[in-house]
Amino acid sequence: MQWFEALSEGGHEQLLLASNPEVGLTAIVAIHNTALGPALGGCRLLDYPTEEMALQEVLSLARHMTYKAAMAGLDLGGGAAVIVGDPSVKTEAMFRAFGRHVASMGGRFIAAEDTNTTVADMDAIRRETRWVVGTGAGLGGSGDPAPYTAWGIFHGMRATMEVVYGTPTLQGRTVAIQGLGNVGFRLARHLHEAGASLIFADFNEKRVEEARAAFGGRAVSPEEIFGVECDILAPCAVGGLLSPHTIPSIRARVVAGAANQLLECDERDAAQLQAQGVLYVPDYVINAGGLISVSGELRGWSREKSMADAAAIFERAKQVLNRARLQRITTYEAANRIAEERMAVVSRLQRLRLPQERARR
Ligand code: NAD
Repeated sequence: MQWFEALSEGGHEQLLLASNPEVGLTAIVAIHNTALGPALGGCRLLDYPTEEMALQEVLSLARHMTYKAAMAGLDLGGGAAVIVGDPSVKTEAMFRAFGRHVASMGGRFIAAEDTNTTVADMDAIRRETRWVVGTGAGLGGSGDPAPYTAWGIFHGMRATMEVVYGTPTLQGRTVAIQGLGNVGFRLARHLHEAGASLIFADFNEKRVEEARAAFGGRAVSPEEIFGVECDILAPCAVGGLLSPHTIPSIRARVVAGAANQLLECDERDAAQLQAQGVLYVPDYVINAGGLISVSGELRGWSREKSMADAAAIFERAKQVLNRARLQRITTYEAANRIAEERMAVVSRLQRLRLPQERARR
């Protein structure tokens, strides 16, 4: 792979390659866009088979975060980090070394949890730099972002019901949830409390049994979940599962869930969903509750404010769906346009030079 070509093709600003062999750290930090503010992004730990796969992933995640932060109305840009390694072999030293690399970026990148990294890992990074969020309550952090992600998705789903049926209520609606992990299980609780009927699937049978005991509902196999008849299909497992292989089987009116980068190919798959009459809420619009909450740590976090800010996804989802309808474009295109317009407008404001900036030169 041509690294500089990959960087410029995606419109990325910067890459940092970090290596500390004595503590087993090999990491890449990508900054996609800082038009709105410093780049905040997850720190993913995976045993990538090749350097190219690690690079592709970090570039794609960073770009995704730019759009997610812009759509969420945050003063943040998009970035991401990948640590290449076996997730079962984590050490304090590895995360502290990573923290020192993050510190070297002087606040241009702010780290957060992602796949295979935890609050405890963010706490280790925090010992070396303040440019990390999602730390534990003991360090003044907000902890696990999943409750806020689930709460935001719940409100995004209410918005879809208003657009489709004229009322946001979930009472009596049927929601099929794929994946009952940190987000999916909490989402199931909100939906159950709102009076929805649930259908769920997970490879983890214990989670399925727990969900049935707590919320009633019906379990189906992971192979069947995309084809069930329901009002909302909520993919809350892993990304990339909606593709020309799976989309034709969907019998839901709406697709709205937690999984990041849910569509195998955004433009193509969003168009196919639209052609099938399925209303798709782009993942980065609806699953931003966790980002919204952890970013609150930069200003002074409170649970109440995070819940209220995540609930505002109701209005953003409606804005995207209405824009798509009015302009006859896919919801994916509508979301991108809204995010890009916000970045352009805010960037232009910076042309108005402020007195203190002049003084610094
Ligand atoms: P998790 O690992 O806690 O849960 C995922 C669940 O999905 C697990 O129970 C797993 O057994 C199940 N699963 C995996 N593949 C499946 C399949 N094919 N069919 C059925 N079940 C399957 O993850 P999470 O934190 O709940 O996140 C879920 C998704 O949401 C991920 O894609 C994540 O990137 C995304 N996301 C999470 C957050 C957050 O705050 N945790 C924020 C934004 C986006």
